[in-house]
Amino acid sequence: MAFRPELSWEFLSKDEIEFRTLKAIRNHVAHLKEDSHYYSQILKEIDHSEIDSPDDISKLPFTGRTDLVNNLQQFWSIPFEQVAEMVVTRGLTGLPLVFILSQGDLERLAFNGALEINAIGLTSEDRVQIHLTLDGLLIAGMSHYRGLNALGINTSRVGHIPFDKQKHYIDLLKPTVLISTPSYLKVFGQRLVESGYDLPNSSIKKIFCVGESVRNEALEINSIGKAVQELYNAQLFSVYGVTEFSVSYSECAEQNGCHSHPELIFTEIVDENGNPVPDGTVGELVGTPLGVEGVPLLRYRTGDITFKLPGTCNCGRNSDRIGPILKRKSQIIKLKDKTVYPLAITGALDELDYIEDYVLIIEGKVSFPDQATLHIVAPAARLDSITVHLREKAEVSIPILISNVATINSFRGGTRREVKIIDKRNQ
Ligand SMILES: [Zn+2]
Repeated sequence: MAFRPELSWEFLSKDEIEFRTLKAIRNHVAHLKEDSHYYSQILKEIDHSEIDSPDDISKLPFTGRTDLVNNLQQFWSIPFEQVAEMVVTRGLTGLPLVFILSQGDLERLAFNGALEINAIGLTSEDRVQIHLTLDGLLIAGMSHYRGLNALGINTSRVGHIPFDKQKHYIDLLKPTVLISTPSYLKVFGQRLVESGYDLPNSSIKKIFCVGESVRNEALEINSIGKAVQELYNAQLFSVYGVTEFSVSYSECAEQNGCHSHPELIFTEIVDENGNPVPDGTVGELVGTPLGVEGVPLLRYRTGDITFKLPGTCNCGRNSDRIGPILKRKSQIIKLKDKTVYPLAITGALDELDYIEDYVLIIEGKVSFPDQATLHIVAPAARLDSITVHLREKAEVSIPILISNVATINSFRGGTRREVKIIDKRNQ
């Protein structure tokens, strides 16, 4: 696929984007009624020609993760012989959900990735190393890998490999850009520096940070971002991807929120009652991915809490921009005496440099309080200060066990290092 940036709507005027969005939403609703078994029932009474503005979408029903879990195959909207790839979304909770992608969906993913790579100014002079594993049925990394291919940019799929080999490929291939997760980069960078490597003066100039935000609510660099930035002396860019949308949101060179791609997704932020909130107000991210063939969705509730940024970006793109994910609704921990968001706990832990690794395990049964336990790799003498820090920063008091890297990795079942929260409640 050759990349054609002129197909993107992002530099069009707000009015033109709105006009095209209206047309796209109408087409999307018609497509759902015709090709999606699930939506043909739900939208039976809806006449798509009566949608007069993009905001009218708020009259249509939401789709939740439970709807997907309970009716997955009814969402599959292409015949099996047109399936080009299958991926699985697990989020951090629940059972794996199989998503089917057509050839067109793969090209759409590549377009999404290419837009984002273009927006941070990568060129054919760059050398990109992807430190994400492009296997395990995951979609993470695929969009950018395919986007880099479409742009013809030199890319190496290094993945997660043992430290010495990872270091060897930095030395040998001299990447200018990394695509990786901040937690992994922090540990890898610390080890590189300990081994005497001159990391601040390496070839690495830019880092695409996947899986965790490197910014806080005010869009300033957060503690994990700061640690990575200082170690690598590189510019960091946040990317937030949603498997169900086959889309990500990412920062441009201005680094003023993560841009949406209006031709690929219609983004809403809603309050607890499902009503739209004004820009700048925090609420749940709801998305209607456009142009998806395999598993088209309408108003999918992510459970992720963020906000749209008001105003326009200096880069000239007129697409919506969102802030970092502040909470994940699906992960609320209901302890005996209070409710806690795991991201508050992981955010507080990331501020402590002496914690080498950790995992938060959440367990519980319906109608009983949840139980959360922290397994931490840190000096035992620090236990008290970690307890105090969590109480102050996350207002939580939970059991903390000093552990080791092998045990923590065994909890992860050999999956990715960036898994910091294991939610066993739905298993
Ligand atoms: Zn911008």
